[in-house]
Amino acid sequence: MDFLPFSLPTIDQEEIDEVVDTLKSNWITTGPKSKKFEEDFSRVIGSKYALSVNSCTAALHLALDAVGVKAGDKVITTPFTFTASAEVIRYLGADPLFVDIEADTFNIDTAKLKKTLESYGDFHLIRAILPVHFGGQACDMDSIIELAKKYNLKIIEDAAHTLPTTYNRKMIGSFSDIACFSFYATKTITTGEGGMLVTNNEEYASRIKTMRLHGISRDVFNRYTSKEADWYYEVVEPGFKYNMPDIAAAIGIHQLKKVYKFYERRKEIAEIYNSELSKIDELEIPFVKNPDNLHSWHLYAVKLNLDKLTIDRNEFLKQMKEKGIGTSVHFIPLHIQPYYKNKYGFKANDFPVSNSVFKQIFSMPIYPKMTKKDVDRVIDVVKNIVNQYKK
Ligand SMILES: *Cc1c(COP(=O)(O)O)cnc(C)c1O
Repeated sequence: MDFLPFSLPTIDQEEIDEVVDTLKSNWITTGPKSKKFEEDFSRVIGSKYALSVNSCTAALHLALDAVGVKAGDKVITTPFTFTASAEVIRYLGADPLFVDIEADTFNIDTAKLKKTLESYGDFHLIRAILPVHFGGQACDMDSIIELAKKYNLKIIEDAAHTLPTTYNRKMIGSFSDIACFSFYATKTITTGEGGMLVTNNEEYASRIKTMRLHGISRDVFNRYTSKEADWYYEVVEPGFKYNMPDIAAAIGIHQLKKVYKFYERRKEIAEIYNSELSKIDELEIPFVKNPDNLHSWHLYAVKLNLDKLTIDRNEFLKQMKEKGIGTSVHFIPLHIQPYYKNKYGFKANDFPVSNSVFKQIFSMPIYPKMTKKDVDRVIDVVKNIVNQYKK
């Protein structure tokens, strides 16, 4: 039987036609299609501004820069994330201040966050908090906003997993300082590579527009389309080269139109997994904290009950692979990665929840292209392995 990959994009004829149209238009870098993608995106989120870039990593970097994070500052995030969330803090010479996660949602533990803020001597150095909405389930934003107000912190959301997640009936990205989305190949919508910042703050938007393209004060589109002095520009900062090309935006325009269609299918798959896998004592299905919030189901991450199995997670995933099912692990905690471990002298048990969840967790395939047969096959394989290796 064919191998079922962990993730596959859904690219239809309309994406292909739009890319071809872009290629034939002679305008292949940032231009009218990126502009349209931004306008559509800000409408979907309900934010004043949407600014396209070439990755979510670039978006996070620009966001921290825009709110004024500088060398020596601290930015709070969790170690249970992809390295992009923390590496951007290092880009600016600031340091991540890790706070452990909740054992059920894998989002930042706001009780621990509160304790960290109360006990941290140099709290004036803490500039921002960067919550990661794990798998597409919103963090406890009420508590985060309350603490951010009290300690004067900016909120930059790592919204890589959240399109179209909501919190208190509001879209993620519509109410914090800045939220950063990813259109990497495996994410809920894709442009191959790409990202988007959303904000309601004009000052941030203006800074981001300048910094995403070499610190030039007008973007290429305006420059080449304005009537007079089309050759003139000013460099006001040593900016970055983070703009999104129209070839990518062409894909994004059509992916965005299908965001709720994709979501419905992922939700259906999550519901089938939930009903079948909840009967198995050897594993724990994802915990949904507040069913009123829309969970994007970017990831379907389960925890193995290692006490009830004779094999560990690594062996479990090896078996899945041998039986033709692709899986992944989100995430290898940052505090045990060589760079962060050596730089900050972390021990595995400094973040005990992240450390123990990591040993149990894996992500199952969940994407719109999966057929009912694919879903049933994944469930069968999981059940077979559990039956073979239960204590
Ligand atoms: C994918 C991902 C990113 C990075 O996104 P890119 O678009 O690949 O830069 C950042 N944070 C999290 C949590 C992610 O999963």
